Amino acid sequence: TSKDDLKGLLETLLHWDMVTVTTSQGLLALLTAAARMRGDHPELAQRIEDYFDYCKRNDLRCVQAITDAKGDRRVAPGGQADPDVYTRIVERRPDGIVIRGAKLHISSAAISHELVVMPTKNMKPGEEDYAVACAIPVNAPGVRIVNTSYAPREREEDFPVSSKHNMPEGFIIFDDVFVPNERVFLAGETGHSATFAHALGLWERLGGTAHMSEFADQLVGLAQLIAEANGTERISHIREKVAEMIIYATMTRSGLEAAIANAEPSPEGWYFPSELFTNAAKHYAASEYSHMVRHLQDIGGGSIVTAPSVADLENDEVGPFIAKYMATKEGISGEYRTKLFHAIRDFTADAYGGWQLVTMLQSGGG
Ligand SMILES: Cc1cc2nc3c(=O)[nH]c(=O)nc-3n(C[C@H](O)[C@H](O)[C@H](O)COP(=O)(O)OP(=O)(O)OC[C@H]3O[C@@H](n4cnc5c(N)ncnc54)[C@H](O)[C@@H]3O)c2cc1C
Repeated sequence: TSKDDLKGLLETLLHWDMVTVTTSQGLLALLTAAARMRGDHPELAQRIEDYFDYCKRNDLRCVQAITDAKGDRRVAPGGQADPDVYTRIVERRPDGIVIRGAKLHISSAAISHELVVMPTKNMKPGEEDYAVACAIPVNAPGVRIVNTSYAPREREEDFPVSSKHNMPEGFIIFDDVFVPNERVFLAGETGHSATFAHALGLWERLGGTAHMSEFADQLVGLAQLIAEANGTERISHIREKVAEMIIYATMTRSGLEAAIANAEPSPEGWYFPSELFTNAAKHYAASEYSHMVRHLQDIGGGSIVTAPSVADLENDEVGPFIAKYMATKEGISGEYRTKLFHAIRDFTADAYGGWQLVTMLQSGGG
């Protein structure tokens, strides 16, 4: 309810696990949507607020299931060869609705309690069955989730970042799932089909910018450490690249600070970050991220991808040689430098690094 609260929330958010972050963002978005719908659909707004209270009372974790399979990107939902590629209502009953479709890339879906389904885009008159928002328990009959993950499957000690922080994405299938009326927030009201995703987008982009501010600092730290370990930290082109990375980190954080400093109160008394600063900061940070990764990989050198493993370092026969040849100067042991390369590989150049590069561009609605 104040700019300081908003800032405090963002700082806390950085230390939460992904499923708690998505819960916070998703429920804030639902409350935002309820406020925007109250004038036209007071009964739906009330259902959303009751659902919020239910989640709060029971300490539930919720994920936002928005992104549909979408079929041919040029074709509207109703014109697709397969009518299910956008999630839709296939049956309306007196006590609820039945939905069919799939929601892709849903962060931490399989380990949450609740799937909050929202339309992926604005639906037009004539597309009423696709204008559907509702909440579904993760174990409801007809729900199936296929997981993907960048979590290392072996040699965890060689993956110092992704072995500690990883979360599956779920490919959710709704195979004719019944949703009772009290959990239905939108069922054909096309005028409000974009309200949910729009409300969520702001919170997702703000949270994303907060995370990118942290990642930017980590990229700078890794670049400076590896330059020092390689003995290149005073060479002019290396200094220029590190300076550019510092400017990137500072500009990203400035955008975040400006979004909060220019937050405005809603009629309910909640503070919303500035849309302009939030969107500009998220876009800037995401579009320049790969450039900053390139700087780090340029500064680091080829050992980012070829440094021997921890098991090799510990091997009696070759370990001492690896330690000898990976060392660079007094104070920089071969073991330290090898492990620094492991961190850079994991952060930027392996499964998690690749995931980050795509996620920076696509998450939060792209
Ligand atoms: C790690 C990760 C986590 C995610 N978590 C979630 C989540 O928790 N919940 C959720 O709902 N979603 C989530 N997403 C999904 C994310 O929001 C989408 O990936 C994003 O909106 C892009 O959609 P898409 O992947 O279907 O790509 P596409 O829509 O196919 O987009 C690919 C490219 O085509 C362009 N394009 C597509 N259609 C058109 C068109 N009609 N006109 C012009 N250009 C077009 C896009 O702009 C983009 O450049 C996540 C994504 C990732 C990578």
